[in-house]
Amino acid sequence: MRGALAGPRMLLRRLREAMAEPVNAQVRLDKIVVHIASNMVAEVCSVYVLRADGRLELFATEGLNREAVHLTTMRAGEGLVGLIARSAEPLALSDAQAHPAFSYKPETGEEIYNSFLGVPILRGGNTLGVLVVQNRVRRAYSEEEVEVLQTTAMLLAEIIASGELQSIVRPGAEIAARKPLALSGSAIAEGVGLGYAVLQQPRIVIKQFVAEDLKKEEERLDESIVAVRASIDELINSGEDDGPGEHRDVLEAFRLIAHDPGWLRRLREAVLTGLTAEAAVERVQNDARARLQRSTDPYLRERLHDLDDLANRVLHQLTGQPLVTANADLPDNAILVARNMGPAALLEYDRKKLRGLVLEEGGASSHVAIVARALGIPAIGEVENITTLAEQGDAIIIDGGTGEAHLRPQPDVRDAYAEKARLRARRQEQYRALRDQPAVTRDGARISLQMNAGLLIDLPGLEETGAEGIGLFRTELQFMIAPRFPRVEEQVALYSSVLAGAAGRSVTFRTLDIGGDKALPYMGKFEEENPALGWRAIRIGLDRPGLLRSQLRAMLRAGAGRDLRVMFPMVATAAEFDAAKAIVERERKHLVRHGYEPPRDLKLGIMVEVPSILWQLDEILERVDFLSVGSNDLVQYLTAADRDNRRVSSRFDPLSAPILRALKLITDKARETNTPVTLCGEIGGHPLEALALVAIGYRGLSMTASAIGPVKAMLLALDAGEAERFLAPRLAARDGAHSLRAELRAFAEARGVPL
Ligand code: PEP
Ligand code: MG
Repeated sequence: MRGALAGPRMLLRRLREAMAEPVNAQVRLDKIVVHIASNMVAEVCSVYVLRADGRLELFATEGLNREAVHLTTMRAGEGLVGLIARSAEPLALSDAQAHPAFSYKPETGEEIYNSFLGVPILRGGNTLGVLVVQNRVRRAYSEEEVEVLQTTAMLLAEIIASGELQSIVRPGAEIAARKPLALSGSAIAEGVGLGYAVLQQPRIVIKQFVAEDLKKEEERLDESIVAVRASIDELINSGEDDGPGEHRDVLEAFRLIAHDPGWLRRLREAVLTGLTAEAAVERVQNDARARLQRSTDPYLRERLHDLDDLANRVLHQLTGQPLVTANADLPDNAILVARNMGPAALLEYDRKKLRGLVLEEGGASSHVAIVARALGIPAIGEVENITTLAEQGDAIIIDGGTGEAHLRPQPDVRDAYAEKARLRARRQEQYRALRDQPAVTRDGARISLQMNAGLLIDLPGLEETGAEGIGLFRTELQFMIAPRFPRVEEQVALYSSVLAGAAGRSVTFRTLDIGGDKALPYMGKFEEENPALGWRAIRIGLDRPGLLRSQLRAMLRAGAGRDLRVMFPMVATAAEFDAAKAIVERERKHLVRHGYEPPRDLKLGIMVEVPSILWQLDEILERVDFLSVGSNDLVQYLTAADRDNRRVSSRFDPLSAPILRALKLITDKARETNTPVTLCGEIGGHPLEALALVAIGYRGLSMTASAIGPVKAMLLALDAGEAERFLAPRLAARDGAHSLRAELRAFAEARGVPL
């Protein structure tokens, strides 16, 4: 066995020398094909490189007509070479011309060759080209030969990905590996980011592919696997997750793979072909990725991620290179690229250096999305394959408003986005000029504009935007990003810092709104058929009063001697409010008994977001000090359309009579008892929707910080009375509940109201 493999090792050594020689790219490729052909006793060896236009171009050959180099091309899927590129799998044939996919290229003179062995040139599971050897005689290629050619293809992948071939590319025939890509995902956090890709888990840079000492490489491989297995066992046994987002079932999957005999055998075989241990891991992982990426089975694709993570751990063990990019290594203008990320991990990075965040998996409702928005970092999610398509340091642009990304953008794309970013900055500048101006409409209606928040990092937004206060403080965010349940003392510290940071402006704390799409990683998952209609928010609070009690205790202590406002989420009946209020009262008495100073003034309210409240407004208004309308949930429940399901969430326009009538019911009723109402759902932050809300009587809106400027600019130009008179008959009309958006827009545009 070892004798038979001395040849491949010799080949790898030759190739390594060829790669190090200071010659031009064509000469290097020409030498490489000669070495491969002679070592594998083949008459032909050819390299085809995938171009940006999707064609495979012959870049070098030994054995075929030299004139065909850079002339012969084929489509992906065309001929045997095209077939390999598409399937990303090797193909060995003793009678190639009998294969149905065989296509004859007369200029190459290949008709005299019968046997054919081709392998994909892969990097990160993506095909960069195809490497082929051919023989005149009909012969069967052994498994070892296939292995050797695949290993050789890895070195070629390095050459192609390095960009070295750029110098021999003909104009208009750019190669795919470095081509500009326009990608689309989902919008997470607004803003345009221009910068350079930083992979959060950097691909390990393998400096040495070819083994000097085979025995040593086998040992290194075995040792690293033993070490990784031990570290996984330790993580599982300690009961601690390895950082946020990585849970026990994932670790169990790692353990299974780490003990999988098939995986280990493939790694050992790769080392035996003459690779270093790290190159062997990379090789085996490349093949797995190519195979699984093309699978349509979601389970298998999920396993690919487990495999990737495990391979990464082994590589990390072998090379000592860090598993994740450290903050210190972040360049200026960094666009962080990750498969997924926990919120705490994002907070580790220096905000000043981050220009954007791109996730392969996470969407708008992921926890890290909340942090990205709070930090004001443009972010997009669900960008397929971004972690394998982007190379460290690639230029990249993201648009957090549309969910688009441009990898290695052309200069015209870059200029267009740079202009867009400049325009945005200029607009922000104009909004900043409005900061200290009160939001009063032209006819004198005063609107209180407040800000939604949930983390301490949100607080500077108050100063920056001139918000009157925090109309909604989502306390669950702190709980979601914490590694475990925050203790009462920690909660007291947080709420005190929020009140101190608000410097006298009012803050409305909302008690924990968890369940549904908001899961606490340490609380254990519970399966529900219909989580949005399930055990969540105040329902958990009342069923597990210990949880609610400790939170209320922390709020009351933080509010000592100050004004404190607390509201409860997802209240569905007046009785639920009574029960929650009773807990507050008990806690207040308890604290006073223990010598704590109570809040100077305590106001209690509820979120109006469950439709049943609309028919209990009389009872509710007798009880509460204020109302806050959660239109995100209220609209989803009124229309029975999941707010996070893109297929249905845009089906019903909130700017239509049924929704606006429901929202108006609340302000009409609240006016009778003089109860303050604020709306804190997303629609309050859209100028056109805010216009309609003012027209139906809303005088308090709480929104994401960046929306305050645009909404205030709209209000300053609006005549609220005129808007009310415009909308009222349209709300009363019986015309099938169509969207009033176009009419409202026309109303605003005709009057020069900026939207
Ligand atoms: C809402 O439902 O409108 C709301 C503000 O609460 P959340 O988005 O946190 O559910
Ligand atoms: Mg809600």
